[in-house]
Amino acid sequence: MNPLIYYHLKSVFIDSWFFLRGNSLEKSQLPCVPILTYHSIGCSDNSFFPVLPPTVFEEQIRYLSKRFRLITLQTLMSALSSGVVPKESLVLTFDDGYKDNFTVALPILKQYGAVGTLFLTTNCIGTGLPLWTDVFGALFQETTVKSLYWRFGKPETFSWTCSQEKILAFKTIKNLIKTLPEDRKIEVLADIEEQLGSASSFNWSQRMLDWDEVRILHEAGIEIGGHTSSHPILSRISEEQVYRELSDSKNLIENKIQAPVTSLAYPNGTINDYNEEIQRIAEEVGYRSACTTIDGVVTSSSSLFALPRLYTTEPSLSRFAWLLSRNMKKAFQG
Ligand SMILES: [Zn+2]
Repeated sequence: MNPLIYYHLKSVFIDSWFFLRGNSLEKSQLPCVPILTYHSIGCSDNSFFPVLPPTVFEEQIRYLSKRFRLITLQTLMSALSSGVVPKESLVLTFDDGYKDNFTVALPILKQYGAVGTLFLTTNCIGTGLPLWTDVFGALFQETTVKSLYWRFGKPETFSWTCSQEKILAFKTIKNLIKTLPEDRKIEVLADIEEQLGSASSFNWSQRMLDWDEVRILHEAGIEIGGHTSSHPILSRISEEQVYRELSDSKNLIENKIQAPVTSLAYPNGTINDYNEEIQRIAEEVGYRSACTTIDGVVTSSSSLFALPRLYTTEPSLSRFAWLLSRNMKKAFQG
């Protein structure tokens, strides 16, 4: 057989198999609710700004809207407290507050009658200020320099000769920055900028949402939740700072949209990025639930202030469906 035809048939077979496995789950009714995580929905031709292409996002929403009842986190919390969670519920969440959540995601969500919860980093809303991760991405994207000396903690020189090596250095250094105390980030980014050269050509004004867009999203049924003011890793700042980050951002959003803000997503959200004290403060300032980035599906045994979520940038719908189904089965089997 012609190898090209063979390859095509093989990929069709694999895709169909994944798709059927994904579909088989819909017939069983599982006592669990997946929460999916999205960030920026847009187009990018490099790895320094991870985005999900709009076509992939639309395919996923079309698939999900046929098979699940798409609800907000607030609705899920009300359902949980009443003891009745509609079968096949699923929550879409969007972290950080990217402008394309308004320009690209909202029209797609509307098309399929879908809603979800958007978590805002309030310092970046309507201010033209980017997240530090985006500044870091821009420095790496723009630079023509081929190495960087890391002088914080254990010194190390990173060098690259091709784009794969550059991406690897970018990812490694990004993770190193996340291990440093929050108050060193500005100093570290300044040092990196000095070595790599500035990314002054970037126009950050169109990167994040403004408050008018937030209000339109809210009026369209999208729940607005908190994601702190400045996106710090909460376990690396003082309790007093945690309190301020959680309450200031919550108060600001409530003031701007004139509605209660009850859902939170911890920045970065891994098991090391929040603790019991942070959960207690979140509850004290008036949140009713908080999302992590720990992989999993919400079940009756989930803690309301440590909700697991699922995140994937998988472009194939059949594999996406299979991943979702696999995680739901895992949750069902306990
Ligand atoms: Zn975030």
